[in-house]
Amino acid sequence: MENCVFCRIVRDEAPAYFVYRGHGVSVFLDIYPVETGHMLIVPDEHFESLHDTPPRVAAKLFAVAAALVRILRNELGAPGVNVITNSGRPAGQEVFHVHVHVIPRWKGGGWRRLVSRHRLTEVEALDFINRIKPYTGIIEEYLNNVFGEGT
Ligand code: AMP
Ligand code: ZN
Repeated sequence: MENCVFCRIVRDEAPAYFVYRGHGVSVFLDIYPVETGHMLIVPDEHFESLHDTPPRVAAKLFAVAAALVRILRNELGAPGVNVITNSGRPAGQEVFHVHVHVIPRWKGGGWRRLVSRHRLTEVEALDFINRIKPYTGIIEEYLNNVFGEGT
């Protein structure tokens, strides 16, 4: 998709702070995080939303979500995490390239408070990337385990 912002990020035509890339999936930081470490999981191929995403691709997105929740809870000590996808405008979807939000909750607020408060800063982004990078092998393990190596 020519003008899709997430397609442009995946093609390296627009900037993003990447956490993981592989198996046809990319994870990068949301530019308006609800809390520090707010990530988006996207397939490298363009689909509008979960309703038109092939099952295997959808399953990959949620396998990565599960791995990220494990990393955040078990390795980075997040006391809570939200996993959310918005499908369709009435549900709040604003970028029409399917994505799953993974939002560590350091402070709290539950699912009723999921509003972005600030623009991501470079310091905040690089600090979080440095903290999570040692554990991104867990994402690879999940994907290899469920889908096989190099798929
Ligand atoms: P949604 O409402 O589920 O479609 O969420 C879209 C999300 O994408 C929002 O949380 C935005 O902050 C985020 N977003 C939009 N543009 C970018 C971008 N260029 N880089 C990173 N995140 C973005
Ligand atoms: Zn796209």
